[in-house]
Amino acid sequence: MSEPLFVIERIRKQFGPRTVLDVGGLALQTGQSYALTGDNGAGKSTLLRVMAGLEPAQIARALYRGQPVDLHAYPEWLRRDVIYVHQHPYLFRTSVRDNIGYGLKARGTQGTMLDHDAVAFKAADLSPDGPIDPDKKFGTVGAVALDAHGHVAAATSTGGMTNKHLGRVGDAPLIGAGCYANDATCAVSTTGTGEMFMRLLAAYDVSARMEYRGATLEQAAADVIMERLPRIKGRGGLIAIDAKGNVALPFNTEGMYRGFARVGETPVTAIYR
Ligand code: ASP
Repeated sequence: MSEPLFVIERIRKQFGPRTVLDVGGLALQTGQSYALTGDNGAGKSTLLRVMAGLEPAQIARALYRGQPVDLHAYPEWLRRDVIYVHQHPYLFRTSVRDNIGYGLKARGTQGTMLDHDAVAFKAADLSPDGPIDPDKKFGTVGAVALDAHGHVAAATSTGGMTNKHLGRVGDAPLIGAGCYANDATCAVSTTGTGEMFMRLLAAYDVSARMEYRGATLEQAAADVIMERLPRIKGRGGLIAIDAKGNVALPFNTEGMYRGFARVGETPVTAIYR
């Protein structure tokens, strides 16, 4: 038999005084499928999480393709080869293989990726089974609103970007960059390459163009997303509403999940152009 692909010896995992995993060792051969069986709470998921570098544990020795690895430090080269796919969350309404392929590809990518990039990524590289399942989509969420008293509000929440630096803070929580509201002009929530939105103070810039230049919401939003942002290689879009109830939803990416609703009207939703 050839050299095992992945060998782990003596894995122990404790939560406080409780031992949740105690395995003598395992050796996985290339080209084989394995099934882990055990009662609920036997530590099956913990073992998989340890092997994927998602969970620290006491490990006597680990070898990947014959090379010793420190699973605590989980080296980047190993991250590109080993991936853990949980049974519930998934990105694409497609095969497990394509979901794994996406994870490995994202890890192998040097640069960061937006969640909207996955739409294009799916169309270009993986099997054409349709777009990302909208019900399972995760990532940036923004909302803007105008109330009956003429007040506007904006909110932005994000998980950031795939492959982002540890500890990175994006534009979403920065007022003026990823989020801004002013009753005199508009409310704006952005999504995209956060660093560029920060450099432009993009959300505030939409408001400033309206306030100082007399631009309409649509002009101001288009200037920022279609003109200023691409000049510094910024990608993304925004949603905005002004104090009169006009809505602008420009984006310079392949698609952007978006929608709006007005009292008494049918809600509108869209992904692509
Ligand atoms: N703007 C977010 C960030 O830079 C990412 C996104 O909107 O997809 O963290």
